[in-house]
Amino acid sequence: MKKIKVGVIGVGHLGRFHAEKFARMEEAELCGVVDIREERAKEIAEKYGTAWFTDFRKLLPEVEALSIVTPTVTHFEIAKECLLAGKHLFIEKPITDRLETAEELVSLAERQGLILQVGHIERFQPSMKRLLSEVKRPLFIEAHRLSGFTERALDVDVILDLMIHDLDLVLALNPKVKLKALLSAGAPVLSDKIDIASVRIVFENGCSANLTASRISLTPQRRFRVFEKGAYFSADTLNRKYFEVRLGEDKRLIPEEESFPSADPLLEELQAFVRAVAEGASPPVSGKEALSALELAFRIKRDIEENLQKFSAG
Ligand code: NAD
Repeated sequence: MKKIKVGVIGVGHLGRFHAEKFARMEEAELCGVVDIREERAKEIAEKYGTAWFTDFRKLLPEVEALSIVTPTVTHFEIAKECLLAGKHLFIEKPITDRLETAEELVSLAERQGLILQVGHIERFQPSMKRLLSEVKRPLFIEAHRLSGFTERALDVDVILDLMIHDLDLVLALNPKVKLKALLSAGAPVLSDKIDIASVRIVFENGCSANLTASRISLTPQRRFRVFEKGAYFSADTLNRKYFEVRLGEDKRLIPEEESFPSADPLLEELQAFVRAVAEGASPPVSGKEALSALELAFRIKRDIEENLQKFSAG
């Protein structure tokens, strides 16, 4: 089997794990890692027995495909150069911090005939995979994604940082369905960007979704619940638990629970990327899908920011 030559740009908190997964993947050869912090680049390269660079351009001739795991505000500049150089890309979520730049990357990848996958990792969590495979016609969705405050990811607000995961899941359950109405609320609390947000989305097919995301919570939570006619499904990706209740033919409720042993969704996600590159197949979460989630995120952001402005003006 031919190994796909890969590299990782940005080996901070998450990128280090990308390097680790690629290094132990049979289908890939990790040809180098990049970080603008020389010490960090060296440390990770030594750990996984590969080359290191501080300028991603130096790695380009060595690889066919790259993971971009730098802060979100830098994704576009780096990704554009990589695509222009003919490299397949895995970009961590959110694809970029602006709609225009995300659109540009999606069309550039298409024009270049390159794979563009985005890191919506929740789709690879075992409890979520089970939920996504069971739900047939969602009517009501409720999601809570709460985490503690850290200095990381403050280049974007909580909608682009955390809620984007649930927006992707909601859209995966309602592909190509138009939005009917949206009402959101949120506030900056510990940073100068929105740190806590909630939204009610109503789709034209009758499905509605209530999502709450916070990066200033004391107790973390990652729960995604779906109701459809005669059934309820719940995925708790933090505790790796799935739960469902179905209405039986005798009108009794039939509960079912499944707990998953520790899994490696990042490995699975990156393996899917390498496979898509090797086979020239569509990746599981395409740039186009990530763009749809970003479009929805920006509608929510605009809604909240307009309300906050009215409030501060009034
Ligand atoms: P981080 O700050 O820990 O790491 C980013 C690294 O990129 C740093 O080491 C930094 O020195 C390096 N860097 C910055 N500019 C660079 C450049 N031009 N070239 C090379 N290296 C550069 O951040 P993180 O928490 O690892 O997040 C990185 C990305 O991953 C963000 O887009 C974030 O949203 C995403 N992320 C996704 C998930 C998920 O659940 N899928 C979780 C965490 C982070």
